[in-house]
Amino acid sequence: MRAFVYERPDRLADALALLAGDDDGAARPLAGGTDLIIRIRDGSIRPATVVDVKGIEEFSSDIRIEDGWLRIGARTTMTDLMRDERIRRDYTALAEAAAYVGSVQIRNRATLAGNICNASPAADTAPALLAFGARVIAVGQGGRRVIPLDDFFVRSGVTTLARGELVEAIEMPLPIGDRGSVHARRTRRRGHDLASVTLAVAIDDRGTTRVSYGSVGPRPVLAVDDTGTLADPTATDDAVRERLEELFVAAAPSPTSMRASPEYRLAMLRVMAIRAVRDARERIAS
Ligand SMILES: Cc1cc2nc3c(=O)[nH]c(=O)nc-3n(C[C@H](O)[C@H](O)[C@H](O)COP(=O)(O)OP(=O)(O)OC[C@H]3O[C@@H](n4cnc5c(N)ncnc54)[C@H](O)[C@@H]3O)c2cc1C
Repeated sequence: MRAFVYERPDRLADALALLAGDDDGAARPLAGGTDLIIRIRDGSIRPATVVDVKGIEEFSSDIRIEDGWLRIGARTTMTDLMRDERIRRDYTALAEAAAYVGSVQIRNRATLAGNICNASPAADTAPALLAFGARVIAVGQGGRRVIPLDDFFVRSGVTTLARGELVEAIEMPLPIGDRGSVHARRTRRRGHDLASVTLAVAIDDRGTTRVSYGSVGPRPVLAVDDTGTLADPTATDDAVRERLEELFVAAAPSPTSMRASPEYRLAMLRVMAIRAVRDARERIAS
């Protein structure tokens, strides 16, 4: 592993100065390190400076309500999410997604912010966050800005964060009425491998269904069914299948991936989605 300078600033301004001050853009933020350290080790990135964001006083690991949004601080880990009563009740798919990530040790370190900033198409929390209409609060030396999560992902490893910007929090709107949600994923080996397909479905009691899927293209995709078909418990399997097929138009799995063939991923996506829609519907009333 190539040597790098390790910095652990207490103040946000100092962290931003360190990230902005690096002329060739080789300074990288570090949260749990479960993605970053692996990439430094395998040489795919070679930062001159690593800026640990866990000491930043302005960054929190709180999950709290602020101005009608549920705000999740940049230091919040997967374990924090799984344990939070509100997340489990109102954002069930996100609690389930967090519980799928890696192993206990990984979940104790891995942050939600790190999961989306890594921008893997297979990131487990991305579909649930998209289905819940999440937005990213980014902060840089020029100030703060809000990025809808759907505008955040570009492709594997690339987001719309500007150089030197940090994610300070991720926010989700508070639910209106009842909602049922489900996270589903397919993997070759639990705890050791990323998802071959990852999916979230959220159905509300007004008949809107948000379906989000990952690992079947360069970035996670959000599709919305506002025809009421997927939310309708009397809809036939054929009607549900047909509607899902329309929503999966953006699914384009890589033909060269070592994890699974495109045919397998698409077949699994269809099966998992039908089950997830049924389970999400059942959860609305429960
Ligand atoms: C054994 C193993 C199993 C895994 N299993 C899964 C799995 O099942 N599902 C899954 O989705 N992932 C999995 N991962 C990947 C990883 O654990 C997650 O993506 C994790 O959430 C990353 O968070 P982190 O805090 O460790 O991020 P880090 O590794 O610290 O950072 C990840 C990226 O985000 C950037 N970054 C971090 N914080 C910020 C911030 N606040 N602002 C701006 N940029 C930031 C870093 O510079 C880096 O580019 C696994 C990893 C390992 C090693």
